[in-house]
Amino acid sequence: MVFTSPSWVPKLAYYPPDTVPLSEFMLSDEYRFTSAAKSRNPFTCGISGKSYSYAEVSERVECIARALSKELGWAPNKGTEWDKVVGLFALNTIDTMTLAYATFRLNGILSPANAVYSASEMEFQLKNCGAKAFFTCAPLLDVALEAAKGAGIPKERIYLVDTATDSSSSNKHSLKTLDQLAEEGKKLQKIDALRWSKGQGAKQTAYLCYSSGTSGLPKGVKISHHNVISNIIQISTFEHPLRSKRKSYTEIALGLLPQSHIYGLVVIALSSTWRGDEVIVLPKFELESYLKSIATYKIVTLYLVPPIIIQMNKNQKVCSKYDLSSVNSIFTGAAPLGAETAEDLQKIYPSWKIRQGYGLTETCTVVCSTPEDDIWFGSSGSILPGFTCKIIDAEGKDVTAYNEPGELVVRSPSVVLGYLNNDKADAETFIKDHDSAERWMRTGDEAVLRKAPSGNEHVFIVDRIKELIKVKGLQVAPAELEAHILTHPSVADCAVIPVPDDASGEVAKAFVVKSSSVSVEENDRITARDIAKYVEEHKARHKWLKGGVEFIDVIPKSPSGKILRRLLRDKEKESRRRK
Ligand code: AMP
Repeated sequence: MVFTSPSWVPKLAYYPPDTVPLSEFMLSDEYRFTSAAKSRNPFTCGISGKSYSYAEVSERVECIARALSKELGWAPNKGTEWDKVVGLFALNTIDTMTLAYATFRLNGILSPANAVYSASEMEFQLKNCGAKAFFTCAPLLDVALEAAKGAGIPKERIYLVDTATDSSSSNKHSLKTLDQLAEEGKKLQKIDALRWSKGQGAKQTAYLCYSSGTSGLPKGVKISHHNVISNIIQISTFEHPLRSKRKSYTEIALGLLPQSHIYGLVVIALSSTWRGDEVIVLPKFELESYLKSIATYKIVTLYLVPPIIIQMNKNQKVCSKYDLSSVNSIFTGAAPLGAETAEDLQKIYPSWKIRQGYGLTETCTVVCSTPEDDIWFGSSGSILPGFTCKIIDAEGKDVTAYNEPGELVVRSPSVVLGYLNNDKADAETFIKDHDSAERWMRTGDEAVLRKAPSGNEHVFIVDRIKELIKVKGLQVAPAELEAHILTHPSVADCAVIPVPDDASGEVAKAFVVKSSSVSVEENDRITARDIAKYVEEHKARHKWLKGGVEFIDVIPKSPSGKILRRLLRDKEKESRRRK
C-alpha cells in the first residue's frame, strides 16, 4: 500500500529549486512564502542576547567568504566542492549558519560534528571527509587541536567561532576568529558570483553529516543543496495551513538541540528561520538556563528530544519556578516519545500541543509529523508533502493493511545523494523498484499505519530493524563500539545491543567473549568494569556501556558470520523480565 500526505496538506507550492545554493535560497526574498517575512532576526543568543539581522548575516557571509578565499586560496568557480571541505566542531552558536553560508558561497561543503566527540572520533571524521579547514570553539579547543593534529590539518587552517561560553583568555593559541575574518573581509575585494549550471543543486553536496545508516560504522552522508531546500519547503508547506490559523505566522523558537545533527540543523536552524521565525540559540542543555531562556524570550515552540521531556516531568518543582506561559507547542523527534511520557507532560501543561516528528539524516530530516490539530500520543503523525511511502514485509512485499508492521521505505526529493565512498551501504539503503526503476530508501525502522478518528493516516514507529542505538537522540553505531572493544587484548569477540533506559531512551550493552590467548589468571582478572573503562577512555559519553557488560561463551552468529542481534536482544529482554 503506497501512502502519501492526507488531503488537508497542500501540494508543494513549487518544485524545490535545484539551480541555487542553499545560502541564496535562505538569504534572498525570492523563494519565500510571502507570509514568511524576514522581519525577525534569524538567530539570537539565549545567553548573551547577541543577535544579527538578515542584512548583517548577508554582509558577514560575503566578508567571511572573501577572507577565507584569501586565506585558503579558494575561489567560488575554481576546483570542485571536494577540494573545499570545512570541518566544524563547535557548540551551538548564532554564527553556525553564517559559516555554512560562507562555505557555500565559495562552493564548498560543511561537515559538522557532534560537540561531545572525543579527539579520536573527531579525527576520524576530519580524515574521512577530507577536511581542508577546521572551525572549532574555545571550550572544545584542546580536543579539536588533538584531532586536527592527527588529521594533518595545520594550525593556520584552524579557526574559532564565538560561543556564549568562551572566556576572554580562552583563545590561548591565538587562532583567527570568525569575527576577525568578517572584519578582514570588509577591506577585501569582492569575489566572483557563483556560476551554477542547471540542476547542479541536486548533484552537489552541501553538508556531510555522519550516520551509521542501517549497519556498520558511521558514514559520511552526502546531503545536496536541493535535498535541504526540499525538506525546508516540505516542512513549511505542511505547517502553512496550521500557521495561517494562528495570530502570528512567525514565532520565537528554541534552538537548543545540536546544530551538527540533522534535526537541529534542518528543522530548527534552517526551516524555522526560512519561515521567518527567530531561533533562540543555547550552546548546551542545562535545565535551569533552558527554563530561564523560555521565560526571558517568551519562546512559543520548544524543539526537544524525549530525554528533555522526561527531565521536565521529573523536575516539576524546578520547572514551576519559571513562567512558561508563552509556550504553545513542543515538537519532539530523533527518538521515540512514549505515549505515557507525553501524557505525563500534558497533565502538567494541559494547553501545550505535544507534537512528534520522525525523520533521519538520510531523508534530510522530517518524513512525518503530528499536526497540532490531530494529536495522537505515540504517533509520529502524517506524511509530509512530496513524500511517497510504503511498508514492506521481510520478503520485500508491500504490506496492504492498517496496523500491520513492516519496514518503512520512502521516496522524496529530500532523500540524500548517498554515502561517501561506500557503494555497499548505498546498495543496501537506496533500492530500485523492479518495475518502475524508482529510487526508494529503506529506513531500517519498523512502522505501522493507523487511521485516526479524524480520518488522517498516522505513522507509528514500533521498532528498529537496523543496528542503530539511539542514546538521548544521538546515534551510537554498535559496529563502532564492537570494533573498539575487539582491540582490547583480553577480548576474543563481542556484540553490542541497545537496552531500554528511563532517562536516555536506550543505552549500549556489550556481550563479550574473553580471549583464550591470554593466561587463565589474566582472563579471570578481567572485569566488566575494565571493558566499560576501555570504552570510556576513547569514546564520547553517550557511547559508554551504561547498559552493562556481560561475559558469554560465544556470540550467536549466522552461517555467514553476521551477529544475530535479535537473539541477544531477546535474551536480554528475558533476563530483565525475570529480575
Ligand atoms: P538520525 O539519522 O540520527 O536522525 O537517526 C534516525 C533514526 O532515529 C530513525 O531511523 C529512527 O530509528 C530514530 N527516530 C527518529 N525519530 C523517531 C521517532 N519519532 N520515533 C522513533 N524513532 C525515531
